[in-house]
Amino acid sequence: MSSISNEVNWKKIEEDYYMFCVRRQPMVIVRGKGSRVWDQNGKEYLDFVAGWAVNNVGHSNEDVAKEISNQANTLLQTSNQFYTVPQLKLAQVLIDNCCMDKIFFANSGAEANEGAIKLARKYGKKNLGGAFEIITALNSFHGRTLTTWAATGKPHDEDPFQPLPSGFVHVEYNNIEAIKKVTSSNTAAIMIEPVQGEGGVNIPDESYLKAVREWCDQKGILLIFDEVQTGMGRLGALFGYQRFGVEPDVMTLAKGLGGGVPIGALLAKNFASVLEPGDHGSTFGGNALACAAAFASTNYLIENNVVELVNESSQYLLSKLGELQENNDDIIEIRGMGLLFAIQFASDISADVINSCNDLGLLLNAVRPDAIRLMPPLNVSLDEIDEAIEKLQSGIVQISKAND
Ligand SMILES: *Cc1c(COP(=O)(O)O)cnc(C)c1O
Repeated sequence: MSSISNEVNWKKIEEDYYMFCVRRQPMVIVRGKGSRVWDQNGKEYLDFVAGWAVNNVGHSNEDVAKEISNQANTLLQTSNQFYTVPQLKLAQVLIDNCCMDKIFFANSGAEANEGAIKLARKYGKKNLGGAFEIITALNSFHGRTLTTWAATGKPHDEDPFQPLPSGFVHVEYNNIEAIKKVTSSNTAAIMIEPVQGEGGVNIPDESYLKAVREWCDQKGILLIFDEVQTGMGRLGALFGYQRFGVEPDVMTLAKGLGGGVPIGALLAKNFASVLEPGDHGSTFGGNALACAAAFASTNYLIENNVVELVNESSQYLLSKLGELQENNDDIIEIRGMGLLFAIQFASDISADVINSCNDLGLLLNAVRPDAIRLMPPLNVSLDEIDEAIEKLQSGIVQISKAND
């Protein structure tokens, strides 16, 4: 067996061993601390990708690392045939800090959403005369399992994975009339993101989410918020729904929940009791290690009042991005809330901007060919924001020059 040395030929290993279904940036990250990471050559980067809005409490957060280490030396996994202390503690802290009554632990965002879909379908079966359809929004993202892929609001006609699970209706986001038009006696739930993340950071009107809530109440159907990306402080409140003053009936969490460790959660109000033993479950969901990490990370967010920090740095980042836009004709819009922002370009220059920023030591995400997404750790400093903006400015100028 060949060994993997410090001087990894990553490209060769990828070619020889990987299923090529993910496009990666050309570096091997070996270490992280706070909002910074280092590659195998020792090059330092400011990390405004944060594991896709996962590293909310920063890389190698000491509280989280300590909890993980303690737990690894105590107990990793028992199956859900038994209770564990970390899972009990995590359930308590999450439920005590949101509007939900009950929680179920999964391993990822897609899995949490699968649970939400099953819950809504059984609710429809029991309480809505067999209604099973779920309305979702175009440009949404709900995951890559077969069902959450079908729920994801994109054209599926040419889909190579056909046949997909049926029962999803996609409508325009931020348009209440579109929802009203497709609601029928088959409708069991509406599932939306309070802010669309993968769709390009799309912020709805506050009146939209309120109107969706009212519509669900009027029709007796469930409102599911997919907070996989918006939850755990990302929008400047512990949960995104709090920013809009609209309580969903069901909420899913994942990305930022575990401080970097994979974990997902399905939360619901008391009607969650429609799910009974045998309906749903998971071998690894809510394992002691992931729950210990998530408990430490959640506590860190709460005890350090990180949402306040997010609101301050959000204002600061917004003003800096405004200046950036003034200085660059290539930028036509800045969208964002909390520490989830997108820079909208006039043309498809995301990949070029990402490349030049890589060289300058700033990691970014190309959320669209013509938009990049900024989602730093929530405890990023104002100095680090300054540094990122300077690098972005240089990166964009390089591209504009090259294109002239
Ligand atoms: C990332 C994401 C998912 C999928 O989460 P995975 O952990 O990748 O399965 C689902 N919904 C939203 C809103 C997301 O951002």
